[in-house]
Amino acid sequence: MEDRKKVVLTGMQPTGLLHLGNFLGAANNWQKMLDRYACYFFIPNQHAITVPQVPANLRDATLNCVAQYIACGLDPERCTIFVQSHIIGHTELAWILSCLTPLGLLYRMHQFKDKSAKNENIYSGLLYYPILMAADILLYNADLVPTGEDQRQHVELVRDLAEKFNTTYSETFTIPAPLIEKTGARIMSLKSPEHKMSKSDPDSNATIYITDDSKMIQKKIAAAVTDSESSISADPTRPGITNLLNIYCSATGIALAEGKEKFRTYATYAPFKKEVAEVLIGLLEPVQEKYRTIKDDKKYLQSVIQRGAETVQPIANKTIAKVYRKVGFLDR
Ligand code: ATP
Ligand code: MG
Repeated sequence: MEDRKKVVLTGMQPTGLLHLGNFLGAANNWQKMLDRYACYFFIPNQHAITVPQVPANLRDATLNCVAQYIACGLDPERCTIFVQSHIIGHTELAWILSCLTPLGLLYRMHQFKDKSAKNENIYSGLLYYPILMAADILLYNADLVPTGEDQRQHVELVRDLAEKFNTTYSETFTIPAPLIEKTGARIMSLKSPEHKMSKSDPDSNATIYITDDSKMIQKKIAAAVTDSESSISADPTRPGITNLLNIYCSATGIALAEGKEKFRTYATYAPFKKEVAEVLIGLLEPVQEKYRTIKDDKKYLQSVIQRGAETVQPIANKTIAKVYRKVGFLDR
């Protein structure tokens, strides 16, 4: 193989403020990769419209997302940040891949099942979401896709599609691998801990946003759903307390076993919750400080995504030209 840095590609939808799950399960890990890999962080606004969005909010949230990425430590001098809809090629490749994707596979995706259960009107974009995701990844021949546990199934599909294209035509795409951290991989809702914490959850008390101030964090953690027992433990039958312990361990970087041991003698939940809240306040403070300094600097944020687009568009063009040739399209 040629001597190149491995390519990492990932992104978060501009569907709202980033939350603790996005931070612990994603951004916090991403910023550790900046020097080791060629990192592309994009804002999947084309994915965001798979469920209804208010256009003005989507526009604001997109630029806001850039600010939040940077606040979470994604230094634009050391990585490429771009907006999906700015790049010609994502939807074009998605079309080609869709012609290789059996419909039944898409109906089996957990996210489609979850999101379609929550929405009254289901559009085909929601079903096709994993194909667009495959195009996002394959367009840049990404080697690694850092993601939370919730996206594992989608990345599997991306691998299958890459292999299918390679065998149907000829060797074209790198087969990407998911990169899933063990701790923090799945942060659950504070109100219904059997579901993951989600940006699009309408109950804001279920979610800690990275911009929540200390009072808000204390309030939300104090009101987090637990159970009628009192020991601090990780147990699948007690998802609330397990989630809080997992949050504590992810935020402090300790192993679950160590966390269990630390709180073994605690007889009630209140002091434990207080410690969880304190750790989160400390964790998010530098993120919030950075966010405050850049969030209103639209000129700066625009310049970051413009530079990002200039970096990746040539790569996308090259892949599309190659793919078009292989499937039998005439050169443009
Ligand atoms: P939405 O509700 O709009 O789907 P989301 O909260 O699921 O939003 P995404 O933008 O879909 O966030 O995901 C961004 C990244 O954050 C992905 O890598 C995803 O795996 C990760 N992620 C999302 N939710 C969690 C969570 N609760 N715990 C850990 N990681 C998460
Ligand atoms: Mg999601």
